[in-house]
Amino acid sequence: MMDRQFKGTLSFAQTEDSNDELSSFRERFYQVDGHIYMDGNSLGLCSKEAETAVLNMLRVWKENGIFLWNIEEGRYYQYSRELARLTAPLIGASPDEVIVAGNTTINIHQALSTFYKPTPSRYKILVDELNFPTDIYAVHSQVLQKGYEINQAVKVVPSADGRLINEDSIVSAMTEDVALVLLPAVFYRSAQLLDIAHLSTEAKRRGIIIGWDLCHSIGAVPHDLASADADFAVWCNYKYLSGGPGCVAGLYINRKHFNLMPGLWGWFGNKPETQFKMSHVFEKASNAEAWQTGTPSLLAMAPLEGALRIHNEAGMERIREKSLRLTAYLMFLIDERLGKFGFSYTNPTDDARRGGHVALTHNDAYRICNALKSHKVIPDFREPDVIRLAPIALYNTYVEVYALAEILEGIMQNKEYEAFGNKRSLVI
Ligand SMILES: *Cc1c(COP(=O)(O)O)cnc(C)c1O
Repeated sequence: MMDRQFKGTLSFAQTEDSNDELSSFRERFYQVDGHIYMDGNSLGLCSKEAETAVLNMLRVWKENGIFLWNIEEGRYYQYSRELARLTAPLIGASPDEVIVAGNTTINIHQALSTFYKPTPSRYKILVDELNFPTDIYAVHSQVLQKGYEINQAVKVVPSADGRLINEDSIVSAMTEDVALVLLPAVFYRSAQLLDIAHLSTEAKRRGIIIGWDLCHSIGAVPHDLASADADFAVWCNYKYLSGGPGCVAGLYINRKHFNLMPGLWGWFGNKPETQFKMSHVFEKASNAEAWQTGTPSLLAMAPLEGALRIHNEAGMERIREKSLRLTAYLMFLIDERLGKFGFSYTNPTDDARRGGHVALTHNDAYRICNALKSHKVIPDFREPDVIRLAPIALYNTYVEVYALAEILEGIMQNKEYEAFGNKRSLVI
């Protein structure tokens, strides 16, 4: 961990907040009344800019009807293009390599149906044991569609401890029968951040296509996909980025692949010049726009416009710096005040290996989570024993992190969690 000097006093946290260059961004987000929100990695909070953009979109529809596609030089018809331009700096891509479309899962399908071209000698997809289920379901169904059995064509890198994945074992699993690798940039449970540049280089050296799932990193960790020379990437926009529940997602296609045909064709992937000729011959667009399928979901994209403007204004480097400092501070407080109650954290402590949250672990994690909620702290729980705590750079404060540690200490000292049951609820 980078050497940071923390102190375990409230006044230290207050001083940190008053020295925080990003502190003014907090008031641009709506808080969940009276709560300490530590769940921005599951669903980011609504910003005023997001609200304004949605209200604008409603107004545009109300006032223009069908003309909305024509006004402002086709801004709404090509709204994905504008959002791509705002997304590109966050991930180190060019705007024409990015589309905002679909959801993460569909974008994985789109990418796999484009890039997964199995041959008798190279037909495997390499994944890891800890990825998010939907990524794995998509891989399984794509493999089945190509006529393989799952066990035959899906190769899984195991985790030694159920929390972290060893990068060397990923590289050694990149054998000659592997056609494609799909990995998360940050693991949703442990917050482990993989070395995208290194693993992409290793895949390329072996002639393997590599795709990255940035769901748990975009908006928290700056990426440089261009210099990593990754083949494709997918992400959702509703976690750290605060694009709204079920917000339209993202897809990156490295420009060296613009000559490929997308796996899934649709009329919004046609060249804009000929789209409305309504020909039955698909003429693909010349850039990542070829990977779009249908009409853009304007109302589900609008909040993202607001959210991206805020992220660009703050800058990903500053966001990352504060995010790392907040999580380091939280780890410091856990060490100082909570270790004696059986807590530990299983996220990497090294800045270069850690995403945006702390994976607090405890045998009684579920009941402790419920006790936290009764104190108006919103964490989230991931099976079997992880409390994810994500202090978000743009809207959480050091004082909130301090208060969180204090509340946890009280819950443990008074054994309050024993009053809560272990029956799981649906989402959080
Ligand atoms: C959140 C998340 C998803 C979500 O997929 P959706 O299609 O957006 O519901 C997928 N993959 C990973 C790694 C995630 O963290």
